[in-house]
Amino acid sequence: MTRRRMRKPVIQIKSDTEIGKMRDAGLIVAATLAALRDAIEPGLTAADLDAIAERCIRDAGAVPSFKGYRGFPATICVSVNDEIVHGIPDTNKKLRDGDVVSIDCGAIIDGWHGDAAITVPVGTMAPELRRLLEVCEEALWRGLAQVVPGGRLTDIGHAVESYVRAHGGYGIVREYVGHGIGSEMHQDPQVPNYGRPGRGPALQRGVVLAVEPMVNLGTQHTKLLDDGWTVVTRDGMPSAHFEHTVTPTEEGPWVLTSPDGGRSRFAELLGAGVKGDAS
Ligand code: MG
Ligand code: MG
Repeated sequence: MTRRRMRKPVIQIKSDTEIGKMRDAGLIVAATLAALRDAIEPGLTAADLDAIAERCIRDAGAVPSFKGYRGFPATICVSVNDEIVHGIPDTNKKLRDGDVVSIDCGAIIDGWHGDAAITVPVGTMAPELRRLLEVCEEALWRGLAQVVPGGRLTDIGHAVESYVRAHGGYGIVREYVGHGIGSEMHQDPQVPNYGRPGRGPALQRGVVLAVEPMVNLGTQHTKLLDDGWTVVTRDGMPSAHFEHTVTPTEEGPWVLTSPDGGRSRFAELLGAGVKGDAS
């Protein structure tokens, strides 16, 4: 994600061919996250996960987006418990039963990026953490469902915030936001996870966004650690982070980092009476 800032956005419009490359990158990100989800168990270190991720991405013929990005030293971000985002996967970070671990992953194919994140339990999970993860992931999908031609940018954050607010007193991170994505990992526009609907740039063909709610069990406020990267909750409470890369099409939102493009999740949302996709 990207740190929040204020200026007029310049949005890169991608061709179908370019979006096709982003889909290829997105599928590699999806496969990498699936491999990590399967691998996670108590006793592994975050560095072990990083090694798995780098091998997955390079074996698929892609390049990790994060490695070297502004000096970031690794392939993935691994953020455990109160770490919200940008955790560095070093060998000291050992996963313990009961932890929740957020993994953020990006890959590049022919210069085009895919970016996604999941938060998963290590071993057993406390009920309030299970609920936190469910609310954050579902809020992401409510936001993704808004990515249709004719929609407006702030419809996304409004859907995310509305869902989270309706499900408890969670802190929605405001100091970091989603972003446009394409020939660079972080592009305009910023995609906040809050706000009023019906504002900002029109969602249209060729726009590609990374939507990524960060939801905390406690306060919304964040703190940057001395390593210059790791963002933690100010109150030390756990945090969840889910992300997908998405583009609007006439058939509905196309989730480039989901193996089925998001089809099954959107069908479930429709069944629950949620509008916003191309129905
Ligand atoms: Mg991102
Ligand atoms: Mg990411």
